[in-house]
Amino acid sequence: MKVYNTLSRKKEEFKPINDKEVRIYSCGPTVYNFAHIGNLRTYVFMDMLRRVLEYNGYTLKHAMNITDVGHLVSDEDEGEDKMLKGAREQKKTPWEIAEYYTDIFMKDIKALNIEIPEIVPKATEHIPEMLDFVTGLMDKGYGYETSDGIYFDIEKFQGYGKLSRANLEEQIAGARVEVNEEKHHPADFALWKKAPKEHIMQWPSPWGMGYPGWHIECSAMGRKYLGDVFDIHTGGVDHIPVHHENEIAQSEALLNRPAVNYWMHGEFMMVNNGKMSKSLGNTYTVGDLRSKGFDPLAFRYMCLNAHYRNKLNFTWEVMQAAQVSYDRFVEGALSHKDGTETVDSAVVSEFLSNFEDAVNDDLNIPKALGIAWNAVRYGKKSQQIFELLTRMNRILGFDLTKKTEANEPELSPEIQKLVAERQQARTEKNWKRSDEIRDELKAMGVVVEDTPAGPKVKFI
Ligand code: AMP
Ligand code: ZN
Repeated sequence: MKVYNTLSRKKEEFKPINDKEVRIYSCGPTVYNFAHIGNLRTYVFMDMLRRVLEYNGYTLKHAMNITDVGHLVSDEDEGEDKMLKGAREQKKTPWEIAEYYTDIFMKDIKALNIEIPEIVPKATEHIPEMLDFVTGLMDKGYGYETSDGIYFDIEKFQGYGKLSRANLEEQIAGARVEVNEEKHHPADFALWKKAPKEHIMQWPSPWGMGYPGWHIECSAMGRKYLGDVFDIHTGGVDHIPVHHENEIAQSEALLNRPAVNYWMHGEFMMVNNGKMSKSLGNTYTVGDLRSKGFDPLAFRYMCLNAHYRNKLNFTWEVMQAAQVSYDRFVEGALSHKDGTETVDSAVVSEFLSNFEDAVNDDLNIPKALGIAWNAVRYGKKSQQIFELLTRMNRILGFDLTKKTEANEPELSPEIQKLVAERQQARTEKNWKRSDEIRDELKAMGVVVEDTPAGPKVKFI
């Protein structure tokens, strides 16, 4: 199996530290709001990696953290903690919003058939491990104290910038104008922040009450659960220049050797070829996909159709096309289930070996999906093909047990009549009548969702 290592900028043969078990760390969500579809694309990539490794016979020890403290509004450690800002805006405590959005995140990733990593540690439950890490760095002379925290001295670490291949001058140029005057270098980053009295989340430390820096969280939790050295670290490409660069500096400074063998990064999801941002109102959620009548697994299909190292541009038209293709794929696969024709076993093996070659070539899932499509479209209806597709589906992760969520069920004439009447009432803006019919349908166990493609009917 080959994977692209951001550190070497090369596809490398994957060799795990232990023959059988692969240890992975994935940067998890900051739980101050809903995960958007861009975030979720990165977790679909993480899931592809998991599934391909499992397919190859490895067992996994995989940790994905929940960031519930310390991720400041700017990744360069400026501004307020996102959790506190989110809590204030939503008039809740940071713990309440953390619990609420963690729960929704877990449901979202389940809806996308993303396998949940074996270990899901919360930052707030690992403060002692983080303090231990910071103390270790202080003892070795890599940290220094200022009036507002403990900072990592990047000039003391040979090799700062090796992941992003940026030099220190570029880091200075890239650093924000209003730099903290007490920092030795503008790109020095916070290991620990001192908390003013009114700061809600704070813990005792050798430097008074405070809270951890975001970067130390991942290094400390990774080390606790995966050991000093582990195989793979994943995240989105935005983490390369700051967050992961800082993780590398901290870990190598403490251990005198690299902690991670392969760094893998998923490219961004764009919207209408632009950035996804709250202010543009284009950060869609799984709930938004559902409310427009799309099956979350059709979104998964859309992600699988693009290589994880290429940008993926989201538009509702692309989503609609993905839904249509996904429906056809599932329907096509199911059409083989009771097939009685026989297929030459050499044909089946060739499909499978081409599929395996593609997934093992740095997760070339779009190519693998194309091969699965060729099997779906194969000229004979055969259970052997269905078995083959089921095997491929260990990686693709679709639902081949039933027609898709978005498919319309068979409707009785009575229900069809009511749905048409409701549509007519809506056209006439007769909301009272349309609500009455909705209630009548509900009593019959049917819900109607209005989508751009017209009403979609589901049984409850
Ligand atoms: P956060 O919750 O902000 O810590 O981000 C969670 C994950 O989503 C990180 O791995 C980010 O790199 C990733 N991410 C953020 N925005 C996007 C995007 N537009 N497309 C793909 N991944 C993203
Ligand atoms: Zn991280």
